[in-house]
Amino acid sequence: MPEISVVAPVYNQQASTLTELVRRLGASLKKTSSDFEIVLVDDGSTNDAWLTIKEMARANREVRGIHLARNFGQHVAISAGLDHADGRWVVVMDADLQDRPEVIPQLYAKAQEGYDVVFVNRARRPEPLVYRAAAALFYLVLNALSGQDYNRLQGNFSIVSSEAVRAFRLLREPGRFYGGMLRWVGFRHGSITAEHAMADAGQTSYSFRKRVRFAVNLIVSFSTRLLYFSILLGLLMAVGSFVAAGLIVIEKIRYPEYPLQGWPSVMTAIFFTAGVTNLAIGFAGLYIGQILQQTRGRPLYIVASTTR
Ligand code: UDP
Ligand code: MG
Repeated sequence: MPEISVVAPVYNQQASTLTELVRRLGASLKKTSSDFEIVLVDDGSTNDAWLTIKEMARANREVRGIHLARNFGQHVAISAGLDHADGRWVVVMDADLQDRPEVIPQLYAKAQEGYDVVFVNRARRPEPLVYRAAAALFYLVLNALSGQDYNRLQGNFSIVSSEAVRAFRLLREPGRFYGGMLRWVGFRHGSITAEHAMADAGQTSYSFRKRVRFAVNLIVSFSTRLLYFSILLGLLMAVGSFVAAGLIVIEKIRYPEYPLQGWPSVMTAIFFTAGVTNLAIGFAGLYIGQILQQTRGRPLYIVASTTR
């Protein structure tokens, strides 16, 4: 059992980034323990990332590679890494060097103070303003809907004890969110603050669509409040329609000689009702989709090959 396993999901990272990652990890980890492993999970990259990982594993016995059969997404790739990591402590980080390997000794030291889970709070986020604004909005909605207080300063950069990892492995639901699932698992949580590095140009592996899909999935799998929201909306509309009906009656009593001017208001009401009804059905549909995925009971990921 190595003292530390590092798990990093890899999707279309350049060879130079990966070799630099392993080099810096080696330098940083040696300060903590000479007994470590680096588990790189290739999440179905379309470039030559897997070749690079295989070469590094051949040259360096600390490096292990797991090749997923296709792109399953970052959080599934992290789960695959956690299923395979043998360490007494497991560090999870991005492979693009935005999570700095030099921070690991601090993470490890904090964990030794008696924590099972320690996350890094990003002190300064060098990302563009639009990106940070979108992230802030996302966390606002997520926290409002889930009733939790997920910290928007935290990504996936963390260290987890083998006990907490073992518990995490029991969670096999398809809608995955590393931080949220760890929180559910429990144990003692702590955090440290460290700088986050700038993203290299041309390295982001997320498209806007992929991010939105992840966000919606996450909100649906981590809260049922959307369903309550549509019930509330339906109630408000019902109350509103009673008020409107009352107004019509009053109008008819006050001006009995005028014919009721109905068409535009009726059309507006119909469109509004249809819109809200569709919204509510859509919300319910999202949850049904999750149930469908869960009942299929498929494995979370498929491993195509490993380096051992
Ligand atoms: N990643 C992955 N699968 C994906 C997308 C991303 O394994 O489908 C990995 C990627 O290789 C990186 C990490 O997730 O190690 C974070 O991705 P990225 O840097 O694109 O996200 P950002 O830093 O912009 O949030
Ligand atoms: Mg990144």
